[in-house]
Amino acid sequence: MKLQAVKGTQDILPRDQAAWHAITAAAEQVLGGAGAGKITPPIFEFTEVFEKSVGESADLMVQKEMYTFEDRGGRSLTLRPEFTAGLMRSFIDHGMHTLPQPVKLWAEGPLFRAENVQRGRYRQFHQVDYELVGSDSALADAEAIELLYRTLQACGLTRHRIRLGSVGDPDDRAAYNAYLREELAPHAERLSPVSQERLRLNPLRVLDSKDQGDQALIADLQRPLERLGPAARGHLAEVEHYLRSWDVPFDLDPAIVRGLDYYRRTAFEVHYEGIGAQSALGGGGRYDGLIELLGGPPIPATGWAFGVERVLDALAQEEAAQAETPERPALFVIPLDDEAVGEGADLATRLRREALRVEFAYQRRNPGKGLRDADRSGARFAALRGAEERTRGTWQLKDLASGEQSEVADEALRAALTERLENL
Ligand code: AMP
Repeated sequence: MKLQAVKGTQDILPRDQAAWHAITAAAEQVLGGAGAGKITPPIFEFTEVFEKSVGESADLMVQKEMYTFEDRGGRSLTLRPEFTAGLMRSFIDHGMHTLPQPVKLWAEGPLFRAENVQRGRYRQFHQVDYELVGSDSALADAEAIELLYRTLQACGLTRHRIRLGSVGDPDDRAAYNAYLREELAPHAERLSPVSQERLRLNPLRVLDSKDQGDQALIADLQRPLERLGPAARGHLAEVEHYLRSWDVPFDLDPAIVRGLDYYRRTAFEVHYEGIGAQSALGGGGRYDGLIELLGGPPIPATGWAFGVERVLDALAQEEAAQAETPERPALFVIPLDDEAVGEGADLATRLRREALRVEFAYQRRNPGKGLRDADRSGARFAALRGAEERTRGTWQLKDLASGEQSEVADEALRAALTERLENL
């Protein structure tokens, strides 16, 4: 039998090391620059560390399918499925609450979840993680989001986008849970078994269901974001205000919810369209109740994590897109008679001075041969001129992808081309 890597694990080969290193170097630079200290927690912990952080009911354990095993002394250990719980265990262990607050930490390394493997979803994967402990200010949330945005920018991404939401305060959650119970009670028997259990224990978690039947039942219900109390609403408005003044682009997204009890107020994700169904690069939010849950003092905290494999995937897309644009001419000019050869070169020169990429044929071409040349150049459009077009002072502008063609006056060609390129 040929030995293979375990499904859902990957070798990071020598040729990929530089790209991986660039991600952690970007994190070091941006997060270190904001006062975060790097911390490297152990790869496994006592299982309780993660169990406690997942909460109250056994069904919630499904959320992070964990690699759990017994050591020789019969104690239950777990390979870390996330950073936050281990970092907060360490925070408590080392009495970091006696340090000047807030304390900012960042970490990077492998995590382990027994998931269904697909593109962007592995069993051993890597995250960069940031946590700020000891402040409940909206400024801490806004700063965390800005740092996430800018770390990804420093990695080389340009098209990532923040989705911002809020799950409110404990009172809002209680009121929202009551609302959900009331709305869903009449349909309870149509919910999936897991959601029925959740409706009983923690209705908010029903919103996390991926079951299509459940999704249809909850589709028209209001989300926590639409039912925030005044305090949480004010906190969110402050976060929005800071993000706007720091030019961090974001969209408010009511779909962002966190079902576990220790989450409060701010919740966010960062997405990159074009890397498949798993478009989330990362996410985070405020988790004021977690440290207390783990046996520490009641200290508010906020943080996030992004997945390194997904960021590398997004970067590959972006590099492919960048590599494509400069190499593809916008226009290929085809002279259909001898006189049009010079006219075509003039046109190309004029358009190049306006920053368009243009190529042309150096000899008269018949239309068929000319269009083949144009295709081979990779151009999106072709401009053709023969005697008739010359009399009318026009060019035939042809979209090489759709085959659409229209006659455009010489002086209008630039504008027509720009407009079509923008509408692609
Ligand atoms: P989470 O810790 O579940 O909030 O996930 C945060 C980010 O980690 C996600 O947005 C992904 O980028 C990444 N991630 C989570 N689970 C996996 C996985 N199984 N494989 C690869 N990346 C993952």
